[in-house]
Amino acid sequence: MSMIVENLKTVLSEIESARSRKNFAIDEPVTLIAVTKNHTVDLMQEAIDCGVKNIGENRIQEATEKFQTLNREATKHLIGHLQTNKAKQAVKLFDLIQSVDSEHLATAIDKAASSLEKVQDILIQVNLAKEDSKSGVYEENLQDLILKVDALENIRLRGLMMIAPNYSDVEKCRPLFRRMRKIFDELKLRRKNFDFLSMGMTHDYKIAVEEGATLVRIGTAIFGDRNYI
Ligand SMILES: *Cc1c(COP(=O)(O)O)cnc(C)c1O
Repeated sequence: MSMIVENLKTVLSEIESARSRKNFAIDEPVTLIAVTKNHTVDLMQEAIDCGVKNIGENRIQEATEKFQTLNREATKHLIGHLQTNKAKQAVKLFDLIQSVDSEHLATAIDKAASSLEKVQDILIQVNLAKEDSKSGVYEENLQDLILKVDALENIRLRGLMMIAPNYSDVEKCRPLFRRMRKIFDELKLRRKNFDFLSMGMTHDYKIAVEEGATLVRIGTAIFGDRNYI
């Protein structure tokens, strides 16, 4: 048996204790997404056998190969940047595309979903800290993108995603997570099916959950360092 059983237990109990430290929305569930990028299908299957129900991948090519050999059920999340020309593959492969950040991409996903007779669940990725190295729409352009997405029939907007900067002092992420939750709550008041706020990775998920994440994306804390397969 590998170490992932123990790691999963630790991560799940850390999520629960972070949830109990929240001073709002205590009853809201927090869902773990096990990020399996750069790990083998065997490890993916092992995680699912240990009770993981959601897995995250960041590249279409790698996900295509791995999902072909995966013989377990799981909800599949695309957490990496998506190129428009791979929209159709993404719609075929994933239950939730978390990285939509332009009208151009949303339109391509909608078109692909329509041709596959699917309504594709998506999140809009927000680049709250305006980092050049990251994708995502700026906060001031979010409302405009939501209007565009709402006009598309084969897309359903389920929430927002963000990646916090990799600060060495992880507490510096807190105000960003808090701000993201506030934006999420304001939108949620006026929307249906708006349930997912995806934020928090290995180094910052405890703070993300304290500040109201409903999805956390965790790789390293479960699987250890990534082997670049
Ligand atoms: C790789 C990745 C993660 C997981 O990162 P860890 O630090 O290994 O937990 C989460 N979110 C995104 C978008 C990623 O690309």
